[in-house]
Amino acid sequence: MINFEYIRAASAKGAIDARTKNAASQFIAGGTNLVDLMKKGVTTPQRLIDINGLPLNTITHDAKGLTIGALVPNSAAADHELVKTKFPLLSMALNAGASAQLRNMATVGGNIMQRTRCSYFYDTTMPCNKRQPGSGCGAKDGYNRMHAIFGASDKCIAVHPSDMCVALAALNATVLVSGSKGDKKIPFADFHRLPGSTPELDNNLQPGELITGVHLPANNFNKYYYLKIRDRLSYAFALVSVAVALEVKDGVIKSAAMAMGGVAHKPWRLKEAEERLVSLAANKETIGQPLESIATAAMQGANTYAHNGYKVKLGKAAIREAVTRALFS
Ligand code: SF4
Repeated sequence: MINFEYIRAASAKGAIDARTKNAASQFIAGGTNLVDLMKKGVTTPQRLIDINGLPLNTITHDAKGLTIGALVPNSAAADHELVKTKFPLLSMALNAGASAQLRNMATVGGNIMQRTRCSYFYDTTMPCNKRQPGSGCGAKDGYNRMHAIFGASDKCIAVHPSDMCVALAALNATVLVSGSKGDKKIPFADFHRLPGSTPELDNNLQPGELITGVHLPANNFNKYYYLKIRDRLSYAFALVSVAVALEVKDGVIKSAAMAMGGVAHKPWRLKEAEERLVSLAANKETIGQPLESIATAAMQGANTYAHNGYKVKLGKAAIREAVTRALFS
């Protein structure tokens, strides 16, 4: 057993101070990922700073949008009336994640911070640049069925595992952060990183910074779908997922937002596809051909490995299906 210290933070400032003073410490909330990582020896914090006592568990709404505290459990966020009515895409994505028990424990902030589920990352007998920089990447020449087809590097081909984050990326959310230098807001697209030459860094949080919540700006979307393709119906990570939000008025798509999960080290925004969806008639009879072309283009540039080539075809089909379900189901 590897010993660690445990303290409870009484305030956000106290948590940030404690974290800043001890580089080997980590915040813990629901612990649904961190405790697994500690049990397997992937992460060995010297001290855990429990932030569950902080007042970060409210959901509020105003004309500018919705703010969800970092400590709101995933299940509470998914079931909250404001989320279900104002941002149903987020509710769908949250309910697609993990299992009911895990959603009850996992927090919104923790979901954003969860680490890749690459099996080589979790196996300390295998090389992994994310776990141990410079040791190599076991997945690149290993079994890489779950791995990235976009944005990978020769150092790491892992994917980000979250469903919630795919919806937040599509909905232009902002991550609210506090640190020793004050508060700041990080656009969701800039929060998670591609692996590049530093795959050990999952995101752009600085040491000691604490996620306090997420903000979703108000929008005009009125059609949504979160499609998750996985090996079984529950408690499985996405092979590929697609979050779609559309504004349809007078039978025409006026605006669109779309992101994919299971394909990259961060939620993968489909900007070109969004632009091409705008002005299309929301018509079952006519949208098939343009949608096929948009989905094909969206998967161009994919870089596959020995076992994940299927994701290109699956991704294309998932984009078509998600947009179709958003429009007509
Ligand atoms: Fe490690 Fe990334 Fe390679 Fe997986 S894909 S073994 S996380 S370096």
